[in-house]
Amino acid sequence: MISGIEMANGRDRYRWLEQQCPICEVSQLHRLGRRGGSAHRAGLGVECELWRCQRCSLIFPSPMPFPLGGLEQHYGVEADEYFEHHQLDDKNVSAIGLLRQAEELAGGKGKLLDIGAGRGELLRAARNAGWEVEGIEPSSRFTKVAASYSGAMIRSEPVERCGFPSGSFDCVVLGAVLEHLYNPDETIGEISRILRKGGVLFLDVPNENGLYFKIGNLYQKLRGRDWVVNTAPTFSPFHIFGFSPRSLRALLAKHGLEPRHWRGFAARCSRSCARHCSLTKRFRGACSSLRPCAALSIGMLTRKLIIRSGCGRF
Ligand SMILES: [Zn+2]
Repeated sequence: MISGIEMANGRDRYRWLEQQCPICEVSQLHRLGRRGGSAHRAGLGVECELWRCQRCSLIFPSPMPFPLGGLEQHYGVEADEYFEHHQLDDKNVSAIGLLRQAEELAGGKGKLLDIGAGRGELLRAARNAGWEVEGIEPSSRFTKVAASYSGAMIRSEPVERCGFPSGSFDCVVLGAVLEHLYNPDETIGEISRILRKGGVLFLDVPNENGLYFKIGNLYQKLRGRDWVVNTAPTFSPFHIFGFSPRSLRALLAKHGLEPRHWRGFAARCSRSCARHCSLTKRFRGACSSLRPCAALSIGMLTRKLIIRSGCGRF
């Protein structure tokens, strides 16, 4: 008899398709090793083969496992569960700081789009500060909450399907979202299109070329395993693509976005990464402050780097 967990983790819950580097669109790949299932110390998820693009260093599984049950298969989480661990004060503080920087970089306030709006804290803070705001929240369970809390229009479809006019936003925020997407190239391309010239994009991702990953992979190698600790395509926190400064820069450059400010910072589950933690929790379902996600366990073991870049469009 197959248990519910085994069924949820089974290979037949996914459609497996060959994957090229979405940034370089070529297949010069270096095999990193296996991740998930029998290649995970706790047996989480389904086993994947992970590869690194030789040109830009982006890490991803191939074949790529696409959840047949859609995003709900990975991110089905009740709003109450999410809000139970919600640090509203921390999020408001980080939102105000980000908005100040956005205003400085964009040369004033204007129209802001928050992709992955969560409960709508950033949108609410931005609206109170005088920005015109819109949000995108893929989880239908949070869309209503975010709209009610922020008073903003919240859409639940991907940004590529929203049909925003070109150059219609002064600031786009993509916090702890990019690594969860199946087509980051398409999303950054669309953001570049809807961002006005000189507009600002804030984004942060885990640095999968960081010390934790290097040490973790070396440890597995020394144990004679071909396991790696990068990404988490089939288990929480469902990081599909693993970025580094090099691959992120390549992706941004491809779409006419130039990094202006890079901030790599070590992060425990603290104020500095409150937004990242909260968003990751929202996506995870099973995450709690006691059992941090794989990326955050980096913080527990060594320390994690998050790349945050402000970008101006040309
Ligand atoms: Zn590449």
